[in-house]
Amino acid sequence: MWLSWHDPETPAPSPPGSIFAVGHEVGHLAHDLFPGGVLVGGGPAEFDQAVKETAALVADASVKAIFEAAFMFERVRIRADIIERLGDGRWALHEVKSSTGLKPENLHDLLVQTHVIEGSGLKIASANLVHINTGYVRSAGIDARGLFSSADATAEVRAGLADVPMRIKDMHRVLALPQAPQRRPSGHCFKPYECEFWSRCTENKPADWIWHLPRLNADQFAALETAGVESIRNIPDEFSLTAKQRRVAAAWRLGELVVQPGLAAKLPTYKECGYLDFETLSPAIPLYEGSQPYRRQAAQWSLHRRKDGALQHAEFLAHQKEDPARAFAQTLLAAAAFDGPMFVYSPFEGAVLRELAQRLPDLAEQIDDLRTRLVDLLPLVRTHLDHPAFNGSSSIKAVAPVLAPEVTYAGLEGVADGGAASEALYRLATGQLQPGESEAALKRGLLDYCKLDTLALARVHEVLEKLAAGESHQ
Ligand code: SF4
Repeated sequence: MWLSWHDPETPAPSPPGSIFAVGHEVGHLAHDLFPGGVLVGGGPAEFDQAVKETAALVADASVKAIFEAAFMFERVRIRADIIERLGDGRWALHEVKSSTGLKPENLHDLLVQTHVIEGSGLKIASANLVHINTGYVRSAGIDARGLFSSADATAEVRAGLADVPMRIKDMHRVLALPQAPQRRPSGHCFKPYECEFWSRCTENKPADWIWHLPRLNADQFAALETAGVESIRNIPDEFSLTAKQRRVAAAWRLGELVVQPGLAAKLPTYKECGYLDFETLSPAIPLYEGSQPYRRQAAQWSLHRRKDGALQHAEFLAHQKEDPARAFAQTLLAAAAFDGPMFVYSPFEGAVLRELAQRLPDLAEQIDDLRTRLVDLLPLVRTHLDHPAFNGSSSIKAVAPVLAPEVTYAGLEGVADGGAASEALYRLATGQLQPGESEAALKRGLLDYCKLDTLALARVHEVLEKLAAGESHQ
């Protein structure tokens, strides 16, 4: 809070499809629940004007609801998503979130808002969280009454209101400090969300910071911190670690790749094989008729096929305005029509195929056949390989730069990770391009990225085979 107020990060742009942008879209759609509501405009710089506008709308009995209502009380400024005028002179407060239900952190918002609004002279009869209804099935258009559900949090808010003045006083005390309170970065920085200052607060940590030990629990972290141990290499031998953590620590001390025995027995033999990767999106607002909020939508695949030692590539990217499930499955089944294992690098592709089989009963048998051919290389890497530069992770993005440095994501423009791919797929599906962005460039970025993923997978598999044969990975 201190950093946000005194030394904020430069706000990153929120491209359509990002969590932030979708949150705005959801908030806007929720206005349809209150026909005749009036929006109070203005950004943070026009806050005082927004407060005056809100007061005028409150005084006008013909206004049934106010969106983005602005209030200030005890030096706390708020914008309430929706306040609804009730018949008895009181108001209902509606906080809108793109989540799927009421969470403890939502209560903080509702508590502070209720305190400030009531301090400003209005009486709040109920405090509610308007959230996404996952049971909603989209028809031709979006029906806000079906898309949203509402959770009544009035009892919790009433029970917590007495503590709010003290908490606000405490927050003002912290804001008045000459410098940020000293907190050590740890698990608290991710509750309930990753703090935007994580990179800043951890920039001086050593490369082998104990945080990068896989599955390090809070007790282990606290014990090592208390003992003054920041580097994995300095963890005392007698400190209790899991077998995997011990192997990672050993790799750091050796400074090189460590291969555990037994790899050869776990790699299947084959004449032909494939390397498969999917990209999906799970939009809060369903895109197609018959689809539901947050349902995973398979939209893109990349397949490298190894035949007679050579790699051939095939790919699919959904067209914008139609449900791509059937085209995705049909093109994939055609490209995968050969015998041999299909290597993937997570359980994700199997889960997507299982869902596709349920959605497309006429193709279910073929899709299930393909699913039984999947071989996940991630558990093999996790169990058998450790390298300091993996940074305690076994993800393909951590492993490929070490095992297959010739495959680089550095030259990619626009789409460089799974999150960006999901956002780009959303922009493609909705036609909400960013300024200066062309559809062709967006598609090219997605195709290049997904192709590189399966190429990296193929190269990592080659290295695994060399290591299994007792050769060096270099
Ligand atoms: S990263 Fe953690 S320690 Fe740093 S400001 Fe955020 S919550 Fe505080």
